[in-house]
Amino acid sequence: MRPRKVPLRKCVACQEMMPKKELIRIVRTPSGEVAIDLTGKKAGRGAYLCGKVSCFKLAKKTKALDRALKQPVGDDIYDALEKEFIAVEDQFIAAKELESDDDEA
Ligand SMILES: [Zn+2]
Repeated sequence: MRPRKVPLRKCVACQEMMPKKELIRIVRTPSGEVAIDLTGKKAGRGAYLCGKVSCFKLAKKTKALDRALKQPVGDDIYDALEKEFIAVEDQFIAAKELESDDDEA
């Protein structure tokens, strides 16, 4: 028997396939706003990044979010997202640890 499949998503920066839980979702809302979506449930086109600032920096350098979200993302938006990303990184890691024995799909 094969183990239950974990949903995988690709990090838009390093192109690695990772379980969805390990990734931070960036969403472009229907109104065109680009934001970090920690719940993973916001409506809009999503792009995934490893929960690491290094991957965010790579995405910024390569403009990976522009491509993934099919919208030009300005430098000011990258800068704002980067600050937010750094702020949520700890939260994200802490939440993952909390969740580790409670496997809700
Ligand atoms: Zn990555």
